[in-house]
Amino acid sequence: MSAPATSVPNIALNDGVEIPQLGFGVFQVPPEDTAETVTRAFEVGYRHIDTAKVYGNEAGVGDAFHASGLGREDVFVTTKCWNADQGFDSAKQALKASLERLRLDHVDLYLIHWPVPAKDRYLDTWKAFVELKDEGLTRSIGVSNFQPDHLRRIVDETGVTPSVNQVELHPYLVQQGLRREHADRGIVTEAWSPLAQGEVLGDETITGIAQELGRTPGQVVLRWHLQRGNVVFPKSVTPERIKENFEVFDFDLSEEQLSALDGLDRGHRVGPDPDVFVG
Ligand code: NDP
Repeated sequence: MSAPATSVPNIALNDGVEIPQLGFGVFQVPPEDTAETVTRAFEVGYRHIDTAKVYGNEAGVGDAFHASGLGREDVFVTTKCWNADQGFDSAKQALKASLERLRLDHVDLYLIHWPVPAKDRYLDTWKAFVELKDEGLTRSIGVSNFQPDHLRRIVDETGVTPSVNQVELHPYLVQQGLRREHADRGIVTEAWSPLAQGEVLGDETITGIAQELGRTPGQVVLRWHLQRGNVVFPKSVTPERIKENFEVFDFDLSEEQLSALDGLDRGHRVGPDPDVFVG
């Protein structure tokens, strides 16, 4: 593949694995369009794909990778254990099934998709994850949508700290407290729905900064995430947006502009509440 050299920085996780800070998310990319969309993302330069069993499109991600000519070590692939698959044996089976759909012998990062505290299986699931990493089926293990008490429990019980916690995070949900908890524990923050699924893009503060800088609102929000240290993987099926979202490494927001975006926080979620969501 003749893709441009990528300018995306890597971030070192607490187990030494390196993750590209900007990736491409495929939630709600229809399965039949996934191979073509991910191929376009590879052509633009993305080398990190965020999928999940429940998105139904792991096979399309695998198809795009295998057609790309890229080396396995050139692409960072994340997938996630769905809620119904939680439990020690079932989580192990679930990763093996994901690998079959992806046609890979390992992923780079495997995540517990939601804690589902009502079912109380996330601790057993985490114990399985520790073994899956030892077995080489995933290079790194992490969690998603975990609250501080869920993090505390798995770390206290197993002594193994997740490498990342992937949580909803955007200018309307800045997650200051959780980010501090992550920093204290050496967990990297991954921001899902980094654009709040488009909801923040008409915000006056954001459009004002975009105008000042001659950038798009999407680029301003992604730049804020990157400068705040978050790992992000915006989703788009629109070719111009796929490209636009990748062109965020040739400008900086000032401290004042970063603080203005921080100040938009209003605790607003576009997705479910992790304390109660069962899927
Ligand atoms: P995003 O915040 O990435 O927003 C995606 C939406 O914004 C789409 O409607 C897209 O439209 C539009 N969009 C994308 N780029 C631009 C742009 N530059 N200008 C204007 N509009 C734009 O939402 P997602 O919910 O998809 O989150 C991203 C990824 O996070 C997911 O794909 C998934 O990988 C992950 N995620 C994880 C969750 C978890 O529980 N762990 C939950 C939700 C998401 P269009 O496609 O039509 O171009």
